Amino acid sequence: MSVDIDWIEPHPHGIYIKPADAWIDSSKPVSKALVTHGHADHARGGHGQVWATPETLAIMELRYGQAIGHAVPYGGEIEIGGVKISFHSAGHVLGSAQILMEYQGNKVVATGDYKRRADPTCAPFEIIPCDIFITEATFGLPVFKHPDTATEIAKLLQVQQTHPDRSVLVGAYALGKAQRLIGELRLAGYDEPIFLHGALEKMCRLYTKLGIELGELRPVMDSDKDSMKGKIVLAPPSALNDRWSRRLPKPITAMASGWMRVRQRARQRNVELPLIMSDHADWDELTQTIKDVSPKETWITHGREDALMRWCELNQIKAKALALVGREEEDD
Ligand SMILES: [Zn+2]
Ligand SMILES: [Zn+2]
Repeated sequence: MSVDIDWIEPHPHGIYIKPADAWIDSSKPVSKALVTHGHADHARGGHGQVWATPETLAIMELRYGQAIGHAVPYGGEIEIGGVKISFHSAGHVLGSAQILMEYQGNKVVATGDYKRRADPTCAPFEIIPCDIFITEATFGLPVFKHPDTATEIAKLLQVQQTHPDRSVLVGAYALGKAQRLIGELRLAGYDEPIFLHGALEKMCRLYTKLGIELGELRPVMDSDKDSMKGKIVLAPPSALNDRWSRRLPKPITAMASGWMRVRQRARQRNVELPLIMSDHADWDELTQTIKDVSPKETWITHGREDALMRWCELNQIKAKALALVGREEEDD
């Protein structure tokens, strides 16, 4: 089955909605931008007008400064150039949205990045049946099956509890992963202060301001070495192996990422404790989502598209790879 829709066009730097003269997740500055979520490979600075969820706008403001933003909450509907546009939760990071477009009786959904697992720091993924489903495929290979989050958190707590004289230093991206890790630790009953590298403080503070409870957080900067013994410390992945970590008591290095499934990636970063925790759908979740959404056509924006293309063909769903440029900078 295929569908004849000519009002939406994939381009290397984004997805163009012709009648609205607007772009989704454009990597170049454009006059009208719809933004799915705040990660740097989707939300860029320098656009004229931006439509996004209130949380994504707040994240963009924190990163790029003030822009002309139109806040569209989940479920809210707007119209640009005759195209009905609404935002629906994607379950990826706080404020992350799938964008639903309706025009001339057809529905197109652009997911941005998404996951299906529960996340204490953002709303769950919503299934929206549509004609064209534009999906990511970051972990689009059958070998990618993310383990249970609780199992990974238990591993981390086990190491923390058995090393009262050391700290556990966990690498986590500043937007989404760090806060989710904190949220998951709190869910597991860990109520000790969690120590933060300076690069994570602002985003954590913004999450708290937007209503996400993260418990007691302390800047590493203001803490003495002894107070961090037996404690969990979070830092951006880039800080794991740099001089900064010398201020911690004999840190055990961990990292929370979907890529920790690949041993070589863990070795590259000298990670002793790889925690497989992703904010993207794994293979089973990607294919289940396509089944759930049941589109006539699937477009695959970025990631490992070949296997997913083949899976779609085997399941009689027309598929195409969009080869967008500049993605996956913060994708894990
Ligand atoms: Zn993302
Ligand atoms: Zn992405």
